[in-house]
Amino acid sequence: MLQDRFERKVTYLRVSVTERCNFRCRYCMSEKPFSWVPKENLLSYEELFAFIKISIDNGIQKIRLTGGEPTTRENLDELIAMIHTYAPKVDIGLTTNGFLLPAQAEKLKNAGLQRVNISLDSLDRGTLNYIAQKDVLDQVLTGIRAAVDVGLSVKLNSVILRGINEDEIVPLFEYAQGIGAQIRYIEYMENSHASNALKGLRSDEIIEVLGKSYSFIPIDKEVSGPANLYETPQGYRFGTIEPHRHDFCATCDRLRLTAEGDLIGCLYFEGAKSIKDAIRDGNRKKVTEILEDVVFNKPEKNFWGIENVEVSSRAFYRTGG
Ligand code: SAM
Ligand code: SF4
Repeated sequence: MLQDRFERKVTYLRVSVTERCNFRCRYCMSEKPFSWVPKENLLSYEELFAFIKISIDNGIQKIRLTGGEPTTRENLDELIAMIHTYAPKVDIGLTTNGFLLPAQAEKLKNAGLQRVNISLDSLDRGTLNYIAQKDVLDQVLTGIRAAVDVGLSVKLNSVILRGINEDEIVPLFEYAQGIGAQIRYIEYMENSHASNALKGLRSDEIIEVLGKSYSFIPIDKEVSGPANLYETPQGYRFGTIEPHRHDFCATCDRLRLTAEGDLIGCLYFEGAKSIKDAIRDGNRKKVTEILEDVVFNKPEKNFWGIENVEVSSRAFYRTGG
């Protein structure tokens, strides 16, 4: 069992399989064009799987593949099948922009994928084009439909930005409810890779907007998850993810692995240790030592929203946001 200095049990591993992406969302990867880390620096699926096996043997119960855009890495279903065959009870999820799901949803589900979080910031073609810097709405909506149709458990993630998509809080809610998917509004996290001018709406503002159209009550925080949940009288649940909230980190159970093999205790902080050499040497003892060390030294909490405190310069698309 992996446990940190603050007695938080770590059971959740997020694996970034690539930093590359087919979108350029302004809050994540605003620059165009882009220079990528060379492919040979990335861990192969066999190497990622070797680490994942060790982490499962040490108590990881939930794995989420992310990026960058994970579906842009070839044959992602092969990695999912490796994990699922090794540990069928481990919960495997994917965070994706949905663009390649029309072609991949069925294959990923058949490989053992259970749940998918799809980012959808707007239902307006022009607005989504502005945010993602690409005309993507139709294909993302087809991807969401494909995921629902093959029986994946689907959640939607939306980042609400002032003056850009703040008028879509209710339409996004209604769309998500209509397809039976939980929507989670993620507070915009400031970072040096985002366009300078962006400002996010805070959760209390989002909840206030929704409260004008719908009634709902707060319910318990998600078990093993970061969202604060709400429920309508009809039983529809939705959530907010509030990294700026003072107690956000109290129940943090997660670790992150980048595609280059850096193991990271917290999205906010610079600190990371590479498992690449130990994995390539087949040194299981060393890998386990690094894993335990990174878990033990997980920072107590992030400092998002606290002025004059430096945020990690590592981009979310590299860390696996
Ligand atoms: N490409 C995939 C996607 O967009 O879902 C997975 C990687 S992306 C980095 C993971 C999540 O991070 C997405 O839901 C995205 O909206 C969110 N994200 C990226 N940058 C963010 C920021 N600055 N603040 C809040 N959320 C952010
Ligand atoms: Fe790509 Fe996801 Fe970042 Fe958008 S949020 S640029 S889709 S990695």
